[in-house]
Amino acid sequence: MNNPNDPQRMERIVSLCKRRGFIFQAGEIYGGLNGCWDYGPLGVELKRNLKDYWWRVMVRERDDVVGLDGSILTHPAVLKASGHVDTFSDPMVDCRTCKARLREDQVPEKNGAKQCPNCGGKELTEARPFNLMFQTQMGASAEPESVAYLRPETAQSIFVQFKNVLDTARKKIPFGIAQIGKAFRNEINPRNYIFRSREFEQMELEYFCAPEQGMQLLDYWLEERLRFYENIGIPRTKLHVLMVPDADRAFYSKGTYDIEYEFPFGVQELEGVAYRTNYDLTQHQNASGKSLEYFDEETKAKFVPHVVEPSAGVDRTVLALLCEAYDEETVTDEKGKSETRIVLRFHPRVAPFKVGVFPLLKNKPELVAKAREVQALLRPHMMVFYDEGGAIGRRYRRQDEAGTPFGLTVDFETLGEKGEELRDTVTLRHRDSMEQERIAIADLLATLLPQVQ
Ligand code: ATP
Repeated sequence: MNNPNDPQRMERIVSLCKRRGFIFQAGEIYGGLNGCWDYGPLGVELKRNLKDYWWRVMVRERDDVVGLDGSILTHPAVLKASGHVDTFSDPMVDCRTCKARLREDQVPEKNGAKQCPNCGGKELTEARPFNLMFQTQMGASAEPESVAYLRPETAQSIFVQFKNVLDTARKKIPFGIAQIGKAFRNEINPRNYIFRSREFEQMELEYFCAPEQGMQLLDYWLEERLRFYENIGIPRTKLHVLMVPDADRAFYSKGTYDIEYEFPFGVQELEGVAYRTNYDLTQHQNASGKSLEYFDEETKAKFVPHVVEPSAGVDRTVLALLCEAYDEETVTDEKGKSETRIVLRFHPRVAPFKVGVFPLLKNKPELVAKAREVQALLRPHMMVFYDEGGAIGRRYRRQDEAGTPFGLTVDFETLGEKGEELRDTVTLRHRDSMEQERIAIADLLATLLPQVQ
């Protein structure tokens, strides 16, 4: 059941995510909004932990990167200059038999002829471009000038604000501007759960540099990003680095890597790391008529900076974390009965809840009071889930399914009823091994905090 190639694995993951409140379809009670997803109580924590860790290593722990939070509604001139208005499109074909609309590059070929993957029909229309951007109207009038777009990537506001950030943050090249935020693409075939959706989040860094630094920084950022995935529990053996061939690269890029992950539905892109030369800043400089040049104090050279861009998808990484963590195993209880244990083996750093706190019995006020004390002690530092309902084994299982790495049980030993030496200690249960140990409440923070940060 833990075979990553099991065709049902994805279904089991999707079903767990709904059952436990990670992810719901947007507008589900009205039949659902295709390509849009809502993150439930567990999903929102998982996603937040991922974004927080990205921000921590990409911005807070570096001297050479600052942050930005740009607006989603985007001036049409920005996306005209970036090329999105004219070229951000997928060629589409329609199947004349079943009327399905398909992305041309995803229509399979059989015996030399393109065939509709839905009905097998061979009568397909000519390919036509389909712009992926969502367009909207600003203000009351419906004049063509009032058009605005929902941004298709977060990167463009970074380029457009390059000069403002440079002037205010007083950074010297090489330095980067990072952003996490929503992006929107009217994908023709949203599919594979949250892998390809119409509304999603990106974590992007634009790292500005001198032209001669570009290729070296491309390799540097590839390595940094691979390390990031390892640090959130995605092993390097499951990651594939694809060096995008010349013919498939954007014409302005001098080198692009795709970081791919072995999803249950195939090896697919998680993140792109691209050396985009000075294309974007040059486009905006030409279109706006405002200088976006950088003046190097030491060499007295003036130039439009080049940029290396690691661009990751939040939702795709959440999906990779879920796929990597999902596990089923057969366990035997103390009465010899075997059962299936579903466990999400998240790295504690990204796990939605870090600790479950359980009073052994809910009708013993002393146990409940002590458990509430432990909860209050840990809560300012980490996400704690308090649960007093049902048999303790069942409570452990519920937290296994949520991916909570640690369980703390307050029992009669804690109250000093089984010997003074055990007073104010609790049982610490480890999710993965199910091993239990005794730990003093006074040592909890120092033991747990370094593991969940
Ligand atoms: P794809 O080829 O899969 O459509 P892309 O190469 O167009 O992706 P980029 O434009 O490089 O993607 O965007 C950077 C990252 O944003 C991707 O690596 C991915 O993680 C994320 N992303 C892009 N489109 C989507 C989408 N429709 N749904 C979820 N995440 C997406």
